[in-house]
Amino acid sequence: MQTMIPHLIDSHFHLRSMQRKGIDVESILASMQELSMEGIEIGLDCGDLAERTAMLEPYPFIKLSAGIGPWGAQDSLDEQLAVLENQLLKNEVVAIGEIGLDNYHKYGTVENQQYLLARQIELANRLGKPVIFHNREADSQFISLLGRTTFAKRGIFHCYQGGGELARLAIEQGFYLSFAGPLTYKANKGMQDLFASLPIEHILLETDSPYLSPNPVRGKANTPLFMHYIYACAAQLRSISLEAMVLQVRANFHAFLDQ
Ligand SMILES: [Zn+2]
Repeated sequence: MQTMIPHLIDSHFHLRSMQRKGIDVESILASMQELSMEGIEIGLDCGDLAERTAMLEPYPFIKLSAGIGPWGAQDSLDEQLAVLENQLLKNEVVAIGEIGLDNYHKYGTVENQQYLLARQIELANRLGKPVIFHNREADSQFISLLGRTTFAKRGIFHCYQGGGELARLAIEQGFYLSFAGPLTYKANKGMQDLFASLPIEHILLETDSPYLSPNPVRGKANTPLFMHYIYACAAQLRSISLEAMVLQVRANFHAFLDQ
């Protein structure tokens, strides 16, 4: 059965958001363990890393990231940054994120979003950690950011929905582009063509659950256990076998973790 494919990676998911939607995350984690899945549980705000670390302690195959997304750009920016930094001193993460820019939801102000992002890139560089970027309709800002910034480690553009110019520039700088459920939507032909054309060693896959469920479960609450739908689509778009896709993404993910 397709759902039983082992060794899938989910590079980006949010357990606390799943909990808020009433999903039993303990059973999801147990299934992930049975299937030898690995991945990164992604922070959404500044203060919950200790709690998430405790929740995931029995599941060492799940790594953690922490960061303040653009949704934090309303107010108290420096206070949030101080809380985040304090949590990062006491708990282990594999990346700073998700952090970024969102011109669709327009949280706070553009300046506040840029400030939060810049401060967290500095923090990531200081700690020698990679970043995980959220980019919603902010390609030109990210193109200029990549042009003027040096990164300590090779980061990830998560749920990639940007264009070809940013994709090429990001890959030139060593970034990984992680694709989520929208890759499986028929309307996203441009994204699918871009995905098929990228150097395969720079690709990662993710659910971004509980958001963005892939076809054919679009509309349902998403979990990492729907990852196989994204792999099946990705393998088909690249004209390679599912097994080859699984091995490639696993190798890419470990290269990211081991850098
Ligand atoms: Zn996310």
